[in-house]
Amino acid sequence: MTHPHPTDHIDAMLHETRVIHPSEAFQASAKVSRAEYERLYRQSLDEPDQFWADVANELHWFRPWDQVLDWQEPHAQWFVGGQTNIAYNCLDRNVERGYGDKQAIIWEGEDGEVKTYTYAELLKEVCQAANALLELGVQQGDRVTLYMPLIPEAAISMLACARIGAAHSVVFGGFSVSALAERINNAKSKLLITADAGFRRGKPVSLKVNADEAAKLALGLEKILVVKRAGTPVEWWTEGRDVWWHDMVDKQSDQHEAVPLDSEHPLFLLYTSGSTGTPKGVQHTTGGYMVGTYLTTKTVFDLQDNDIYWCTADIGWVTGHSYSVYGPLLNAATVVMYEGAPNQPDWGRFWDIIQKHRVTILYTAPTAIRAFMQHGDEIPGRYDLSSLRLLGSVGEPINPEAWMWYYRVIGGERCPIVDTWWQTETGAIMLTTLPGAFPSKPGSAGLPMFGVEPGLMTHEGEELGPDDGGLLVIKRPWPSMLRTVYGDDERYRKSYWGEIKGVYFAGDGARRDQDGYYTIVGRVDDVLNVSGHRLGTMEIESALVGHSSVSEAAVVGRPDPVKGEAVVAFILIQDGHTADPSELRRHVTREIGALARPDAIYIADALPKTRSGKIMRRFLRQIAAGNEITGDTSTLEDPAVLEKLASTPAV
Ligand code: ATP
Ligand code: MG
Repeated sequence: MTHPHPTDHIDAMLHETRVIHPSEAFQASAKVSRAEYERLYRQSLDEPDQFWADVANELHWFRPWDQVLDWQEPHAQWFVGGQTNIAYNCLDRNVERGYGDKQAIIWEGEDGEVKTYTYAELLKEVCQAANALLELGVQQGDRVTLYMPLIPEAAISMLACARIGAAHSVVFGGFSVSALAERINNAKSKLLITADAGFRRGKPVSLKVNADEAAKLALGLEKILVVKRAGTPVEWWTEGRDVWWHDMVDKQSDQHEAVPLDSEHPLFLLYTSGSTGTPKGVQHTTGGYMVGTYLTTKTVFDLQDNDIYWCTADIGWVTGHSYSVYGPLLNAATVVMYEGAPNQPDWGRFWDIIQKHRVTILYTAPTAIRAFMQHGDEIPGRYDLSSLRLLGSVGEPINPEAWMWYYRVIGGERCPIVDTWWQTETGAIMLTTLPGAFPSKPGSAGLPMFGVEPGLMTHEGEELGPDDGGLLVIKRPWPSMLRTVYGDDERYRKSYWGEIKGVYFAGDGARRDQDGYYTIVGRVDDVLNVSGHRLGTMEIESALVGHSSVSEAAVVGRPDPVKGEAVVAFILIQDGHTADPSELRRHVTREIGALARPDAIYIADALPKTRSGKIMRRFLRQIAAGNEITGDTSTLEDPAVLEKLASTPAV
């Protein structure tokens, strides 16, 4: 194939042909049918103001907006002049609509403790927390940093901030002192909310100790509010600065009037995972984010009144914000939250939770699915998973083999899978297949959500046609999009709307098939250039994972004098198998061609991942090239993995 811009074109390698249709029964009761999707999608592009006004009107506004969208590229304002409150919409509105006695949160601690909150109870707790924040001097417009385990108080704190108009900045509880301090300083937070410790793999992991250390580096911090979660001894207690949650929150009135906030009032800051570089403080605002997460949760997860919905993401990630807290609560869903590790006490923990709480919708990440797959079918086979009716995937491309495993072993070949592509920056799901409306194609995210106009382009802004791979862009603003990078609008302009003129640049490579389905083939930064062919990482990785002996794979390029780049694969071996490098090379050649055959294969015990479970290929590139490891490692789950890999010989 000839192409005018060979540098932006990404070759399609893997030809996945399986198509999985939702059952008749699922289609019959689905919220959105195919015809309805087509009509609404068309309307969302042709009459966007009307479309978005109709969605927004399903929610509560203290004051109606004057204008749906004001777009001064690259800055968008949505529902301009409107006033609302997302916590009011999650709680008060649902209690008023008669959901007061419905379970809002079913929380399970790693130690097995279970706590539940109805909508009416959650509203009271959030009101008390909001009053406590006010007593601690937090004002509308301030930022509050959260550094917490996944306990109910984390969601309560987020909602309490939203209720008074303070922006929350959640920092994942596994992050180090320096990562925490950097984020407190960047956000200029005066209050930190934390806990004594959380449970992880059976052991209490101290958070207060890190908070104390971070406070030494974050001098603007005035107060630390501490939840007693683990009951572990707290060594330091700074009088005047440190306050126990049970002393401060429990005594407050459970009445609080949610503050009417401008639609564009900042709701939260969230630093991206850092898979490709230094994390950015992505800023989201109130009205548009609310409308986007409300609509996508309702339609993508086909939410019905009796669903028990579980998104396994930690609240430290955007998925935990949009699909554990805001989106499902806006829809009056019953949300399951689990504090701990998936393998505590063993790899059956998720299935035990599903069986015990009769979970109907499960939303998790490919990294978890591949880990379960590595340990075989027998463990999930011991549990009753018949309550499940819908599965979701997010965070990385899901390899077709992992998709099929999820479908067969977890979903019992009964549950549709929604593979949802989106980003911290997009706030809400952008590409997927609505479960009752369209068939799924394993490994392919699918079609655009309402109001999303994607495209494939070259850096010059030239559109690529069907079956062509290129840079994934979004061609118009959408309500839940980020508004800026906190404190660095220049970075916002440059990274997202400055890369290709007039469109949002996602940083991912993708291709589109004849049915309009988008398949993410990897991050643009990770694309390989082998003998003039540009190869996304996903397809070679998927071919490797497609071999029965491989449970996980990461592929990078290594400079090569002849080919430009040589393919280097890092693989994990499936339990009970051994590696046969020449067989794997033959397998990749068979599946996608000799071009993609790995020149070097490293058999690894673990891959370097972000704390959210994404493979960080930039470090693997350094190892493959034999270079020293440089760059920000602060979001890495286990830095020791790198040293180990660096001393592993290739085969
Ligand atoms: P950073 O931007 O700091 O490098 P990050 O991109 O990992 O970090 P997130 O916003 O958490 O931070 O992740 C969004 C990215 O995750 C997407 O750009 C894409 O690369 C990947 N991703 C998410 N969901 C999917 C999916 N369903 N299919 C393919 N890729 C996905
Ligand atoms: Mg990113």
